[in-house]
Amino acid sequence: MPTSLPPSSLVTLREQEAWLRCILETVPDAIIVIDRKATIQSFSAAAERQFGYRADEVIGRNVSMLMPSPYREEHDDYVDHYQKTNERRIIGIGREVFGQRKDGSIFPMYLAVGEGKLEGVSLYVGIIHDLTEQQATERRLRELQDELLQVSRMSGMGQMASSLAHELNQPLTAVSTLMQAARRMLEQGDASAIARARDAVERASQQVLRAGEIIRRLREFASRGDTEKTVLRVDTMINEAIALARISNKFGTTKVQLQLADTPTVVVDKIQIQQVILNLLRNGLEAMENMAKPVLTVSANVVNDMVEIAVADVGPGIAPEVKERLFQPFVTTKQHGMGVGLAICRTIIESHSGRLYAVEGPNGGTVFRFTLARAIEETDHDDA
Ligand code: ADP
Repeated sequence: MPTSLPPSSLVTLREQEAWLRCILETVPDAIIVIDRKATIQSFSAAAERQFGYRADEVIGRNVSMLMPSPYREEHDDYVDHYQKTNERRIIGIGREVFGQRKDGSIFPMYLAVGEGKLEGVSLYVGIIHDLTEQQATERRLRELQDELLQVSRMSGMGQMASSLAHELNQPLTAVSTLMQAARRMLEQGDASAIARARDAVERASQQVLRAGEIIRRLREFASRGDTEKTVLRVDTMINEAIALARISNKFGTTKVQLQLADTPTVVVDKIQIQQVILNLLRNGLEAMENMAKPVLTVSANVVNDMVEIAVADVGPGIAPEVKERLFQPFVTTKQHGMGVGLAICRTIIESHSGRLYAVEGPNGGTVFRFTLARAIEETDHDDA
C-alpha cells in the first residue's frame, strides 16, 4: 500500500507554490498578508521595493510598523473592532492612505484589503499601489495650470496696456501742439503776464511729452515683457499643453492626432508658448463644437533652422468678416469671446522671432502655423 501522495500530485503542489511565488514576485503592486493579530505572514518583492524592508525584517512583526502615526497606534484597535463587530471600514472597499518606508519617509498609497480563510483561520491580504508618482504628476499639472493662468492674465493686461498706450498717444500729441500754439498767441499780449504764461505753458508742454514717454515705455514693456527662456524639446512642450487642456476636460469626443516624428529643441519661454498652443487648441475645439467627428491634429516639422508647429481642425474655417483682422485685439465672432487670444499669440510668437499665421486646411477646416527658431545643439558643433 502506498503511504505517500502520487508523484504527479507532488509536482502539481510544487508547481502551484512556484506559480504563487512567481505572482508575488512579479506583481507591480505590493502584496502583504497578515493574520488576525495583524502579524505579517508574507511580504512580496514589490513590497520590499516600496517600503525598503527585506521580507525577513518584517515577517512576524505587526503590520502597523509600515504605517505612520497616528495610524500606527490606532491599527490594533481597528483590527479588534472589525473582529468584534464585523463592521468593514476598508476590507473590500479600499482607500487612499499613507505608508511609511524604512527610512522614515511617508508616501501616499492606495490600499485594498481582502479577507480569506486558510483552514478556518482568517488571513487578510493587502494590495498596495504607490501613488507618489501619480500625485506628483497631478501636482505638477496643477502648478503648470496656475502658472499659465497667471501669464494669461498678465498677457491680457499687457495687450490692454498696449492698446491703451496707442490710443492715448494721439490726444497727447494734439495737446502738445495746441499748447505750443497758445504760447505763440500769448506772446502777443502784456509783457509780465505773458512771461509767466509762457513759462507755465512751457512746463505743461514738457509734462505732456513726459507722459508720452512713459506710455512709450509701457508699450515697449507690454510687447516685450519679461521672459525666461529655456531649451525645451518640442514634443514635451506639446504633450504638456495637451495634458493641460485634458485636465480642463476640453476635448470631449475629439480625436487628437499627434505627428511629432522629429523631436527638435527650441529656446523658448515655455509657459508663453504653451499658452499659444492651448489657445490654438481651444479655438480649434470651439470651431468644431457642432461637428459629429471632431479631429484635431498637432504636428511639428523641421524646416531649415526653424521648427514649424501646426494645429489643424476640421471645422468650418475662418469667418470671412474676421479674416483680415484675425490677429487684431477685440476681434471675435463668439458671443462670449474676448477676441484677444490670437492677438496675444502673435505678440508672443513675434517676441520669439517667429511667425504665426492661419491657412485653410487641405480638406477644409483651419490650420494655424507658427515657427520657432531651433536651438543650436551640441551635436551640430560636433559635426562641424
Ligand atoms: P476668441 O476666441 O475670444 O474669439 P481669438 O482671438 O482667439 O478670440 O479668436 C478670434 C476669432 O478668430 C474667433 O472669434 C473666431 O472667429 C476666429 N477663429 C480663431 N480660431 C479659429 C478656428 N480654428 N476656426 C475658425 N475660426 C477661428
